[in-house]
Amino acid sequence: MHANLQNVRIQPIRVLSDERIHTDILRLDLFHPIVSGNKWFKLQYYLEEALVSPKKTIATFGGAFSNHIVATAFAAAELGLNSIGIIRGEKIGDSPTLRDAESYGMNLVHIDRNEYQNKEKIRHTLPDPDIYWVNEGGYGHPGAKGASGIISLFDTSHYSHVVCAVGTGTMMSGLISAVQPEQNVVGISILKNHFGLKKEVTSLLSHTASQERFSLIHDYHFGGYARQTQELFDFMNWLWENEQIPTDIVYTSKLVFAVKDLINKGVFPKGSRLLIIHSGGLQGNRSVSPGKLCF
Ligand SMILES: *Cc1c(COP(=O)(O)O)cnc(C)c1O
Repeated sequence: MHANLQNVRIQPIRVLSDERIHTDILRLDLFHPIVSGNKWFKLQYYLEEALVSPKKTIATFGGAFSNHIVATAFAAAELGLNSIGIIRGEKIGDSPTLRDAESYGMNLVHIDRNEYQNKEKIRHTLPDPDIYWVNEGGYGHPGAKGASGIISLFDTSHYSHVVCAVGTGTMMSGLISAVQPEQNVVGISILKNHFGLKKEVTSLLSHTASQERFSLIHDYHFGGYARQTQELFDFMNWLWENEQIPTDIVYTSKLVFAVKDLINKGVFPKGSRLLIIHSGGLQGNRSVSPGKLCF
């Protein structure tokens, strides 16, 4: 199936709206069943740079269920570039994500977890001058610039808050730079105690004024990156049953859960109009044991 921006739409969430607050969700997940919409946006300028350079191979880093890995494989194939995925940890068992990446033509190199931490060294052990490197998760200025395109897909100027899930902070930086001065971007960090995040987001912003426009919330990681609890599964099933919105276990379930909780706690002022960014990631649910999710 081809990636298709025509499928992306904004949908109201009735169960997160009342007379005080209105909540909509931008369904970037409808872009493609495997390729996360936000990863696609983040990769655009990296790919453009690679295409105009003499380098014909894109290489990047990620785990066995990484949305970034599979999106890079897909995007490189679409543009006729080769791709290499440096994968964290030795090969164990089967990963549908990595199988998809390979089916898009990516070459996978498994690296032991300790060695994986030293990305510079890995780059030097593959000293092919033909390789264009992209940071893990697409972190960097070109990534943020690409993600800013998410805001201009639709007229979003009437929202008071744009709320998104945050890993590296690249997508959030792009959103902050693209919103109107009076709009706020709220980021839900899905990593545990990732307090360096504020600096990482700020360093991708060009305008000092835009640094006033965002806040980060660290209370909804559910134990840490990719950790899952029964409460989270119950929430995902509840959201699906009520609104037919599928969410992923790593990012968007924690995001929407957070928005519901923050609304209940009265954090958003009366009259707020929220736009949640459904950044995709549904392919990662293939790591969940069967029977946990009803969609
Ligand atoms: C990668 C990812 C994010 C986080 O993006 P960052 O730019 O790393 O903060 C959010 N949602 C989904 C589905 C993702 O795949």
